[in-house]
Amino acid sequence: MESFMQYNPTKLWFGEGQIKQLQQEVDTHGKRVLLVYGGGSIKQNGVYDAVMKQLRECEATVIEMPGVEPNPRLTTVKKGIALCREMSIDLILAVGGGSVIDCAKAISVGVFYDGDVWDIITRKATPERALPLGTVLTLAATGSEMNNISVITNWEKNEKRGWSSPFAYPAFSILDPAYTVSVPRDQTVYGIVDMMSHVLEQYFHRTEHAPMMDRFMESVLLTVMEAGVKLVDDLQNIKHRATIMYAGTTAFNGMLSCGTDGGDWASHQIEHGLSAVYDIPHGGGLAIVFPNWMAHCAEEDPSRMKKLAMTVFGIEERGRSDYEIAMEGIQALRQFWDSLGAPNRLGYYGIDDQRIEELVHKSFMKPSIGQYKVMTRDSVRDILIRSLA
Ligand code: NAP
Ligand code: FE
Repeated sequence: MESFMQYNPTKLWFGEGQIKQLQQEVDTHGKRVLLVYGGGSIKQNGVYDAVMKQLRECEATVIEMPGVEPNPRLTTVKKGIALCREMSIDLILAVGGGSVIDCAKAISVGVFYDGDVWDIITRKATPERALPLGTVLTLAATGSEMNNISVITNWEKNEKRGWSSPFAYPAFSILDPAYTVSVPRDQTVYGIVDMMSHVLEQYFHRTEHAPMMDRFMESVLLTVMEAGVKLVDDLQNIKHRATIMYAGTTAFNGMLSCGTDGGDWASHQIEHGLSAVYDIPHGGGLAIVFPNWMAHCAEEDPSRMKKLAMTVFGIEERGRSDYEIAMEGIQALRQFWDSLGAPNRLGYYGIDDQRIEELVHKSFMKPSIGQYKVMTRDSVRDILIRSLA
């Protein structure tokens, strides 16, 4: 184990009916509420009504900001900042999936920054304070409900950037698995792929001895796979929705990388390049890229892929090389995602090799990407080419 500092201030209210806790949170954080949401799913599934009932009962003043797009855009963040200033907002309440929450995080820090909020997102400026943010999660995927990370797209520049700040943790998050029952099959699968990718990226660390962390991660992966396979054929099943919901939060709230070097997030960077240019769903892009990143890296060092193959996919050694075992594990991961119906090649989204150099360029929004294997432009190009067909 390496030395670490563990800090996560987000208060989690988990379980059916927990929306009633919203009243005490509004009492704590303030009654002028900016209600941020997406394209309207919350109006169809009853979540909007449930939230509004609580807000009415505690006599909050609600200013609505609908229209946050999947892969949320900088222009929308700016709209939210202007509304907060104009309406003297006390509390931002994000009701939705990762996109709505990420957008709300950028609004919350942008309100107190005089310059262009893009400076914060590109890490040229550091936030010094934020409006309190609460979330009501409606889609299990990103872990944004309990971390300090946000991903925003500048569509004019075709750049999708992740940023983080100690001020970007939600003050509270309400997780009612019943609110995720209406998530359609494709988004449910994208969510499962995203949360598994978060665990896998942390799993590909190079810390020599972290057995407890490894077993935590293997346990989250096994649990997500066991529940995920049942859930996609039984989307109304609240038991499996609950398991998947808490797994998504656990996968990316800082706990799994305590005592390790943090793992390797190159696949997320490559996916951000894809979404920035083609605006594809995050989990769909990861399902295509991640196994190809693994296969690319296993050629140099298959050790962690081998461990994953044996502990999570039950593959036996039978006198074979580390590389062969690693590749069998990667194949098992592919087959698992295929069995859920996740896409497995860029052609699924109509992406060919036309803009591949641009995709390589857009993957390097940080000076260096990759840690298990430091990526060169050639490595990223190779992973993208493997992902085409
Ligand atoms: P999302 O983009 O928030 O939502 C995807 C779609 O699902 C939207 O159309 C949304 O509709 C719909 N939806 C949400 N809840 C629903 C429900 N209960 N019933 C029916 N439909 C529902 O998806 P996401 O995967 O959670 O977020 C993806 C974004 O997060 C990407 O930009 C990705 O890069 C980022 N991300 C962030 C982190 C992080 O740590 N912050 C980590 C990984 C990825 P509405 O528009 O109506 O809401
Ligand atoms: Fe992600």
